[in-house]
Amino acid sequence: MTSDKHGLSLIIPCYNEEAAIAGTLERALGLLDGLKIASEVIVVNDGSTDRTGDLVAACPRVRTIRHPVNVGYGNSIKSGLSVAQYDWVGIIDADGSYPIEELPRLLAEMDKGYDMVMGSRSNIRELDGFFKHCGRSLMRMIIRFLNESRIEDANSGFRIMKRDLVIRLAPFLCGTFSFTTSLSDTQVIVGGHRINLAGLRVDTTVLVVKKGRVVTLVVASFYYPGYVAPN
Ligand code: UDP
Ligand code: MG
Repeated sequence: MTSDKHGLSLIIPCYNEEAAIAGTLERALGLLDGLKIASEVIVVNDGSTDRTGDLVAACPRVRTIRHPVNVGYGNSIKSGLSVAQYDWVGIIDADGSYPIEELPRLLAEMDKGYDMVMGSRSNIRELDGFFKHCGRSLMRMIIRFLNESRIEDANSGFRIMKRDLVIRLAPFLCGTFSFTTSLSDTQVIVGGHRINLAGLRVDTTVLVVKKGRVVTLVVASFYYPGYVAPN
């Protein structure tokens, strides 16, 4: 069972990240140690076949979940959510592409009462090819239409959100890369239940542009048009 303790559970999904995971954990733990809020780091090793597991095991201060096989980004976050002990959860990639040092700004925004605060990547346009750019623009239009806040980066994997809200939505969220997009799009999914969103621009640097992945626009959200989240 989850508890109501106030704090931040930072979930780091991780698939074959031996090159980056040690540095990411060092940065994350160093940063969280300096904050006033109670916190924990949950690494979800999503069936990695490289040395990721060993490197995470060498870091005793993190909680670890291991998937025996690779089941996808969204499912990794869902696994992390199921064990998170604090009322706010954060997500960040293991590859170091998001500036974890910006976490205090996101937390400060959460303090204002938002359900979810997203770090919008400043370099998102430079990263995208033509088709990905079109997909992202479409998502941004839908989300802006549904939500009063001007969310710049609907796919951002750097955010903080209220744990219990996301747990309620989890069955309707994509298990793979569109988890974050479907989460941004939850006004559609939950039909009528508005999520109070805020977006903050964070400075990201281009670290890795992975080839071969075609943008997958979330359509799952339209499968449940009549669903209303329970109170
Ligand atoms: N990841 C995962 N399972 C997967 C694929 C990715 O847990 O099947 C992790 C990955 O290690 C990273 C995060 O999810 O920490 C986002 O993946 P990636 O950085 O490849 O996505 P991108 O930033 O390129 O969209
Ligand atoms: Mg990444």
